Amino acid sequence: MTGTTCDAPLALSNAAVQQLGHCNKCGFCLPACPTYIETGLEVHSPRGRLSLMEAAWRGELSVDQGLADALSLCIGCRACETACPSGVHYSTVLEAARTDMVRRRRRWVIPAPAAPALLRLVRHRRVFRAAVRLGRAARRLPLPASLTPLTAMLPARVDTPRAGAAPRASRSGPAVHFVDTCVMAAMFPTANRDAVILLSAAGAHLVGAPKSEGCCGALEAHVGHLETARQLARTQVARWERHLAPDTWLVAHSGGCAAMMADYGRLLGDDERWREPARHWAAQVRDFATALAALPSSLRFRGTGARVALQNSCHLVNGLHQGGAPATLLAGIPGDQFIPLAGQDRCCGAGGVYNLNQPAMARQVLARHLAEGERAAVNVWLVNNPGCALHLEQGVQALGGRARVQHLATYLRERWVDKAPQDFSQEG
Ligand code: SF4
Ligand code: SF4
Repeated sequence: MTGTTCDAPLALSNAAVQQLGHCNKCGFCLPACPTYIETGLEVHSPRGRLSLMEAAWRGELSVDQGLADALSLCIGCRACETACPSGVHYSTVLEAARTDMVRRRRRWVIPAPAAPALLRLVRHRRVFRAAVRLGRAARRLPLPASLTPLTAMLPARVDTPRAGAAPRASRSGPAVHFVDTCVMAAMFPTANRDAVILLSAAGAHLVGAPKSEGCCGALEAHVGHLETARQLARTQVARWERHLAPDTWLVAHSGGCAAMMADYGRLLGDDERWREPARHWAAQVRDFATALAALPSSLRFRGTGARVALQNSCHLVNGLHQGGAPATLLAGIPGDQFIPLAGQDRCCGAGGVYNLNQPAMARQVLARHLAEGERAAVNVWLVNNPGCALHLEQGVQALGGRARVQHLATYLRERWVDKAPQDFSQEG
């Protein structure tokens, strides 16, 4: 806590101020912004938010005058960055503004009671796994109203991958560490296992990983806990530092986490001890689909007549810039019909803990995607981020469950033509 008063101008990092200077207020980012699409209001557009943050930084606007509202409704999806012709790195400004709000203990968002608990739980794998199981069991009990949004979003089932189908060992392909990431490991271990099996079959030389623990920091960075996010990043890099050969890929089946890890170089750019290891780490990060497509063996897939749509992770698209690989892969699968929806790369509204903190807007944003899917008679929604999986699952259920939500890796493994016989027993 600093001595900053509520009336003091918004304190921004030099990098954030520099980004503000790049914005010429052209407005090209507006049509890309999901909250502007829903509200039509400048205050809930990237340009409006940048203008408000700039005014608060200049001291022309008190941080209490509407800034919190604008910051809290932003999903942090970074679509505005992709749309911006001037290259404004909006998230640097947003992150700095939210961090200053947190530092001066001004509420930029009224957090749902469950959100801080979730942020703490994800740092402790075993406790988190136990809490997920407990939460699913507790859905049958009368719970305090504050906890029901959290238990309602838990997956319908948490599969335990069987040990039978061990990945084939390759010695010739690129070395790959699979980063299992906290929410995927606790809630969707089978999808992680499917990803590892496919990567290995495509020629990855899977190399041992240090015991995974903790969170990459993405959830904390979203809510302005930048120092905690930096500390989590240091912990990750330190844990892996001795294991990471220069050409080893770090592959995750979670777009948000992959984008966060690829940003470690910037996040720890002013940390003399960790700057270089963080840059090295960041350069090695690949999303699952991008890695799969770049491996030496092309796997063959055959569909089963499904009408398939993709809900691409927005941070994979706008942060990591590896959003093209999933659609390319899907378009090449015979037997299924991949339907490229206009909104497939647009945020679904999950946004880390955004759907807990801003449930109404999160649902509204998602409804637009689901309506597009309904019009196209989609019966399988594919996801590549755990938050999107949970958010879509809830939305689809609310619509009567006519479509199925599936992780990309699990979908691909089901349709993999050359899978070993034991692989068939893996699902469930
Ligand atoms: S962020 Fe970029 S696209 Fe948006 S108003 Fe500023 S310069 Fe234009
Ligand atoms: S991060 Fe997403 S929600 Fe926020 S201003 Fe940019 S486009 Fe809009």
